[in-house]
Formats: sequence, C-alpha cells, structure tokens
Amino acid sequence: MSLAHTVSQLTPLTDEIWQVKAQGPEGVRQWQTRCVIIAAGVGAFLPRTLALEGLPALLGHQAWHEGHDWPHWRGQRVVFAGEGEAALQGALDAIEQGAQSVQLLHRREQFSAPDPIVAAWQAACAQGRAQFVAGQATGLDLSHGRLQGLHYLDGAGQSQHLSCDHLVMALGLSPKLGPISDWGLAMARKQLVVDPARFATSAPGVYAVGDINTYPGKKKLIVCGFHEATLAAFDVLERVRPGQNHLLQYTTTSQTLQRRLGIA
Ligand SMILES: Cc1cc2nc3c(=O)[nH]c(=O)nc-3n(C[C@H](O)[C@H](O)[C@H](O)COP(=O)(O)OP(=O)(O)OC[C@H]3O[C@@H](n4cnc5c(N)ncnc54)[C@H](O)[C@@H]3O)c2cc1C
Repeated sequence: MSLAHTVSQLTPLTDEIWQVKAQGPEGVRQWQTRCVIIAAGVGAFLPRTLALEGLPALLGHQAWHEGHDWPHWRGQRVVFAGEGEAALQGALDAIEQGAQSVQLLHRREQFSAPDPIVAAWQAACAQGRAQFVAGQATGLDLSHGRLQGLHYLDGAGQSQHLSCDHLVMALGLSPKLGPISDWGLAMARKQLVVDPARFATSAPGVYAVGDINTYPGKKKLIVCGFHEATLAAFDVLERVRPGQNHLLQYTTTSQTLQRRLGIA
C-alpha cells in the first residue's frame, strides 16, 4: 500500500508488463505489474494555483500551496491568496507566529470561512495586525530569482505592488484528470472507455472502474463501482492464471472466505 502518492506514469515495458510510477512525499516510487486497475474517480484533487510567470521555480521556497507544509513565518512578509478557511486560518497563524507583515489578497472582501474565523480575521485587521487587499495577482516581482513582491490589479483596474517574501496560494482544491489523459488509453469526454463485460480499457491488462470509466448505461454510483471492480478482478484472474477453474465462493457458505475474514 502506498498512500498519498499520485500515479504519474503508466508505461508498457513489454506486451505483458506495465511500469507504474508514482510521486509522493518521499519522492518517486515505481512498480512493475501485469495488470493495473485504475479507480481514479474524476482525477486527483490538486491545489488550485495562480498562473504567474516564474512561479514554479519558487514552489517550496517562497511560494506555497494549500495542504503543503508551510515554514514558520516569524519575521517574514507573507501574502496569502484566497478567501476560504485555509487562507484565513493560515493568515491568523502567521500573525501568531510573528510574521513581519500579513496580507490577504482576494478579488473582494467576502469570505467562505466559518464565522468565528472570519471574525478573528476582521479583528486582526481592525487592530492593524493584518491587511486585506482587494485585487487579482498579475505577476511576480523577482530579483535574481528571488521573490520581492507581487504585482496585482486593484478594484479600479490599476496596477499595484505588494512587497513580500512568501506567497501562499490557499485557493482550494480542484480535481485534475492530470497524467491519466497522457497514458494513451481510449477516452470519451475525459473518461476511460471500457468493455462493460470485463471493465478492460483499450490497453491489454489495464482496467478502469468507478467514476473514471464510461460505457453505455454508465451510472456514477458506489454500488456500480463495486460491481465493476468485481468483474475486473475476475478478468485479472483469468489473465494471470489463464484456463484455470476460478471458483466463485460466497462469504455466507465458504469456510475459507470466513476464515480469511476472521468470522468464526
Ligand atoms: C455530492 C455527491 C454525492 C454523492 N452521493 C452518492 C450517494 O448517495 N450514493 C452513491 O452511490 N453515490 C453517490 N455519489 C457518487 C459516488 O461518490 C461516486 O460514484 C464514487 O465515489 C466513485 O468512486 P471512485 O472510487 O470511482 O472515485 P473517487 O471516490 O472520486 O476516488 C478516486 C480517488 O482516486 C484518486 N486519484 C485520482 N487520480 C489519481 C492519480 N493519478 N494517482 C493517485 N490517486 C489518484 C483521487 O484522489 C481519489 O481519492 C455522490 C457523488 C457526489 C459528488
């Protein structure tokens, strides 16, 4: 089991063997396997980002996404982009940690965070411990590759500048099909086309179950996902042990299954 990893590559090594690569907190992991079952739903939930030139090179140093481990903000000038709980709570935490300045940049002063957090944020602004800035980021102010500040358009459409050492993008998460669409599998409307008798995709040994797949009559329901996974598993068995008699057993009557499940 490998949790908190995003599968980034699926590559055929031979006619029979697939290589799966995944990126996680400790780096890249890879496996070789004869069969892969993709159950990726609508894709991986990734943090929303700002489309600013030069941003990727700052990630993990001076630019940060929601859900990542942010550094301690003591003595730092920090701009938070966002309006939800993560943005407001992050800004409040930065104040507590002794940040030199804390600014929150968003199009308008409306927040989707719980009331107590909004109230704490407004109190911090009223006390001069933080500042709300209405606007939209348009560019990074970089000097020798280091972030010095942020350019933004204010409500009147005027270009403005904010000085900062760090930019935190707490803009929520959005599902991204991401790498799956690069694996060369047949797709229709961002879903993997499968044979509904086996839930096999267009690539031998690769299956797709749940919300990621499509076939005539598809219903996005949990019970359908279980059915699809069951039929895919039977086909995987046939693929790895061809021609054998694959006994269908019931948990109600099979002592073998009951023992495996720890049922007396
Ligand atoms: C609001 C709402 C209410 C619903 N209510 C019901 C209900 O009452 N009853 C019902 O039957 N169904 C309901 N559904 C539908 C049901 O939730 C889905 O059919 C079901 O969750 C699909 O399961 P899944 O495993 O295919 O996908 P998901 O549950 O979306 O899981 C996919 C997982 O794959 C991960 N993933 C994606 N890409 C990668 C990658 N490259 N590498 C690693 N991991 C990846 C994702 O992060 C995610 O964790 C509801 C759906 C919604 C949106």
